[in-house]
Amino acid sequence: MDRPKIQVIVRKRPLTASEIKKKETDIVDITSRESLIVREDKQKVDLTKFTEGHNFLYDQVYDETATNQEIYQFCIQPLISAAFEGSHITCFAYGQTGSGKTYTMLGESRVPGLYLLASQDVFERVSANSHKLKILISFYEIYCAKIHDLLNERQQLVAREDANQKVNIVGLMETEVSTVEDLMRIIGFGLSNRVVGVTGANDESSRSHAVLNISLKLGRKLVGKVSFIDLAGSERGADTVDNSKQTRIDGAEINKSLLALKECIRALDQDKKHTPFRGSILTQVLKDSFTGKSKTVMIANISPSSGDVEHTLNTLRYADRVKELKKGNKSPRGVQDILADSLLLPRKPSTVTKVQEKKKPQTAKVNSQPTGANRLLATRSRSSTTEDSLGKYLNPNWRAMNEQDLQEMSETHEKLIAKILNEEEELITSHKQHIDTIVDIVKEEMILLNNVDKPGSDVEDYVGSLNRILERKIEGIRELQAKLNTFSSDINTEGLLSRRFYQFQNEVLDLQGTEENDGAFNDY
Ligand code: ADP
Ligand code: MG
Repeated sequence: MDRPKIQVIVRKRPLTASEIKKKETDIVDITSRESLIVREDKQKVDLTKFTEGHNFLYDQVYDETATNQEIYQFCIQPLISAAFEGSHITCFAYGQTGSGKTYTMLGESRVPGLYLLASQDVFERVSANSHKLKILISFYEIYCAKIHDLLNERQQLVAREDANQKVNIVGLMETEVSTVEDLMRIIGFGLSNRVVGVTGANDESSRSHAVLNISLKLGRKLVGKVSFIDLAGSERGADTVDNSKQTRIDGAEINKSLLALKECIRALDQDKKHTPFRGSILTQVLKDSFTGKSKTVMIANISPSSGDVEHTLNTLRYADRVKELKKGNKSPRGVQDILADSLLLPRKPSTVTKVQEKKKPQTAKVNSQPTGANRLLATRSRSSTTEDSLGKYLNPNWRAMNEQDLQEMSETHEKLIAKILNEEEELITSHKQHIDTIVDIVKEEMILLNNVDKPGSDVEDYVGSLNRILERKIEGIRELQAKLNTFSSDINTEGLLSRRFYQFQNEVLDLQGTEENDGAFNDY
């Protein structure tokens, strides 16, 4: 069966004992194999409560009863044979800390995770076909933009792009394994080297991305590869206010890498020639997952708890963006849905909701958005450039008053991110070119010096040539410096813009809660 290049699946975990103890409730209903609804409790200023429903569609949605085996069999196993035919299979676990990423990837005692299930399959295939294939494991983490080898005492490594544009992690330990037990023992050893941070959310919260590669090699030739990435908690990015400077820097770094990841998967999805993989270390080291023959599975892990509603919605929106532009999408969404999503606002009730309403009529009524998306579309500013709008949004006197303002601001933000990712690539390319030019110039200078030393040489020629050389150098440095300045300044602008965006978003959402609505809300 030909699988889509990218699959986005959502997995909801059960409520934990401590959530039940805290009287938190399950607010996520799986409405079909492909859809779910999040019921967000809100309160108006007059203290009346209402529930706002958020619908989402994905390739597959799993409820709290799904096992790792089921997920494996449906989403990963069909891809394993492709790994034996030269493909690179990459599976990401995305979600807030405590949402079940590690449970899915690694599993727990007596609950095998995807690592184990996949390697069992790989080993079986290798032995059944008496392949001469070797199985090699590497395991590393990316923490604060640095790569640490988990199989080699957390040694810090660097990634380099070679002459063939292949990104290599220099000195990364690759261990050959011959049995599944071997492999699990090595993974266990690697995990004991992982960094765990302590946050309010979960003691074991991880601020690093863990990358496990299972490579199939014939001699030295790479035949195929299966990679599992247990991503850093997605809440880290947003969580930049109350923490120490180091935690904030981690957060910003995680935010950047998750954004770049999303852009890379989208580029892969759209068969774009250009993949902005240089946007972060994570995407850089995963370059071969985004180019060539590749299949990607993104598992968005969510908590069902009422206490986690914001993070859950953020995770679902992220996963939705990855899938949004997918070709041949079975259930194309209307313009209204796309607009609502880019506004980070609930979608209009759909047929999915109706199914839901039949099942649970007392709780599942959904807010119908009073703002018509058509109106938004009609009045969206088409003429203003990113620069103009940036100036507007950064003006301290400007505020977002409504969804339309937020929508436009969010579009400007996306454009800025795309610009930054491009600038970064350009900067690096220019830097490389600059070095090449400098090398050429140095050669010219050597010749010049050589000549001026010779008897009867023309010193005026020498002065003129040296002058031209110095000017070229200065000009080269200026150009590079200008690119660097633009890049740094755009990064600062992005920080400022996203802070303002989140502030306005809260204000506008609060405002909405207080507005009278058209009776579609479910008052208690
Ligand atoms: P993360 O790696 O995303 O921080 P964990 O995988 O550590 O989250 O999960 C947090 C807690 O929830 C753990 O106690 C784990 O046992 C439990 N858990 C997660 N997913 C499931 C699941 N599908 N079924 C049962 N328990 C789960
Ligand atoms: Mg974890």
